[in-house]
Parts: sequence; C-alpha cells; structure tokens
Amino acid sequence: MTAFVFDSPDFDAHEQVVFVSEPKAGLKAIIAVHSTTLGPAMGGCRMWPYASEQEAATDVLRLSRGMSYKNAVAGLPIGGGKSVIIGNPKTDKTPALFEALGEALERLHGRYVTAEDVGTSPADMAHVATRTRHVAGLGDSGDPSPYTALGCFVGAQAAVKHALGRDSLEGLVVALQGLGHVGFDYARRLHEAGAKLVVADIDAGRLEQARTQFGAEVVPVDSIYDVAADIYAPCALGATLNPATLARLKVKIVAGAANNQLATADIGEALRARGVLYSPDFVINAGGIIKVCYEHLGQPEAEVEGHVREIGDTLREVFERAQREQLPTSVVADRIAEARFGR
Ligand code: NAD
Repeated sequence: MTAFVFDSPDFDAHEQVVFVSEPKAGLKAIIAVHSTTLGPAMGGCRMWPYASEQEAATDVLRLSRGMSYKNAVAGLPIGGGKSVIIGNPKTDKTPALFEALGEALERLHGRYVTAEDVGTSPADMAHVATRTRHVAGLGDSGDPSPYTALGCFVGAQAAVKHALGRDSLEGLVVALQGLGHVGFDYARRLHEAGAKLVVADIDAGRLEQARTQFGAEVVPVDSIYDVAADIYAPCALGATLNPATLARLKVKIVAGAANNQLATADIGEALRARGVLYSPDFVINAGGIIKVCYEHLGQPEAEVEGHVREIGDTLREVFERAQREQLPTSVVADRIAEARFGR
C-alpha cells in the first residue's frame, strides 16, 4: 500500500514531503517541510520502529505542522518541519544511516534543518553534520532543557497573575509530574519562588532528590491528578489532559513542559468551561527551541534568556485575548501562530 500524504487528514498544505531511501545505509526516512514562510523549516529527527509507512507519514505530517506553530509563536525566524527515520533506535543505528540522512538534507539546500528528537541524540547529529551544515543542537553548548524550564517558570508566573491576580508564587501548591531534564529544573525555580511542590515520577532517585532538596511531597504516579493544587505541571508525558483526568483535576492552572498535552482538541474548551487556565503547550515549552535556534543561527547566547522570558508576555496576550473573545487559550494560540506564518 502506498503511504498517503495528500489524502491524509493530517495533510495541511505542507510545502514539501520527501521520501528518502538509501538501501546501503538501511535508511528509510520521511522529511516534511510544513511551512517556510518565516524561514527555513526547523524541527527534530525522530527515529521510531513505526509499524507501517502510513504511521510514519502521519507522525511526520503532524509533528512538522506542530513545529510551524511552535516556532512562529516563539517569534523565531524559522518555519516548521520534522523528519522521521523508520527503524529501531536501540538496534538499527549506524554512522552510515545518519550520514545518508545528512546527504538527503544537503539535497534540500537548507529548506529543512534537523536536530535531535525522540530516538536520536547529539552523537547521531554529529554524523549528520559530516554531510551537511543544516543540522542544529549538536550539543556544543549543552542541554537546552534549562531554557525550557525557564520558559515554563515565566509562563507559570503569567498564568498565576492572570488567573489568581497574584504577583508571587509564594505559598502556591504545584502538582508536578515528571522530574526529568525540564521538570527538575522547573521544580527548583518553583521552590525558590516559595511554591510548595507535590511530585510524581517513576524514578525513585529523582523523587528522593526533590524531597531532600525542595522539601517536595511525593505521591504515587497515578495520584498526581487528584492533588488539590493551584497548578498542575505536566512534564512527563503527552495527552495527560483527557476526559478521565479532567474529572479528577482540582487545579486552577495548567502550566507544564510536556508536548501535546491535550488528548484531543476539544479538551481546550472543556478546560475553559471548568475555569481552568491552560497554558498552551507549544507556547510555554518553546524555551529549548529558542536556545537551539539561536545557536544554529550564530546569535549571541547572552540574548537567549531575554527571548525565553518573552514567553511570559506571549502567554499574557493569549490569556487576555481568550478571555475577551470567550475562546479556549489553545484556539487563541493557534490563531496567533497562523497569523504569523500566513495561513
Ligand atoms: P525526560 O525524559 O528527561 O524526563 C521525563 C521524566 O518523566 C523522567 O524523570 C521520567 O522518569 C518521568 N516519567 C515518565 N513516565 C512518567 C509517569 N507516568 N509519571 C510521572 N513521571 C514519569 O524529558 P524532558 O526532556 O524533561 O521533557 C519532559 C517533557 O517536556 C516531554 O514531554 C518533552 O517532550 C517535553 N519537552 C521537553 C523539552 C526539552 O527542552 N527537553 C522541550 C519541549 C518539550
């Protein structure tokens, strides 16, 4: 069966979709350029043992479109794109595979710039970089996660101001799910701002660190949705905002780093109807891509923090417009992005 693109419900007038094959290197990949209105399309390369070509095509169409929204709302001079390699990242990786991908990117003359993503690493990207310069986030200057955490923190401040009319996070309770690269640093900032943390993770070591360093209360993984808190901060998995969790959540604000937090688009309206202020994921978690983009374009590292802090201003704009127009914040964020990339 031929993988569908044009007929797919996830096809959104993508500018270009390229199927790449290099049998000697074992490479089967799809590159999707969603929009280059604002600049070269940028987005990571995912490696995954997709069950079918369709599944890979669907994923790359969705993910590349998402990058257009994220990059546009972050005010970056880049468009949206993504690539997927069909293969098992645990068993199928070779330098030749990533070199072949680099050659494919070179043939696109910079219309798409890749980076690491789920299943790929800075080391893999170093192999890509032997064949093309259209690759970002080689890890030269470290992990972008602290910038993602900073964006979440300023986003939480903006949400608290809007929903609770408070300038400080002192004494607020935050239910934080996932103490990984982003979540742990976000937790540190929240703790330093005087918030009380209730945390869940599957990693006992991380939980112990949060308990000793931040005085965090630890709850079982599934109990995080039942915590009576001011803020729910999803920093682990996608789709944690769904009908089942909505019925349980007792918070006023959602402000976390996870990608694709809404299980379905209509959850945005469900949150609004319940009076929960949702900080759209692709707005609040853009700190990492801002950092990677600056690095790739050779812009000064010293200016990254200021740009990441603008996430707070963007969220204020989203919250105020959503209130004025009686719309879910997720819809308003989409509209702001679409206006910027001209759709
Ligand atoms: P990570 O893998 O370092 O951390 C994830 C943490 O979640 C780990 O500590 C893991 O043990 C924990 N976890 C896994 N399953 C869990 C569960 N069921 N309940 C509670 N905890 C669980 O990832 P990260 O880089 O910190 O990213 C976190 C989220 O933010 C991801 O959804 C990622 O896509 C998104 N994100 C990250 C960045 C970034 O800069 N790293 C940027 C944008 C978005």
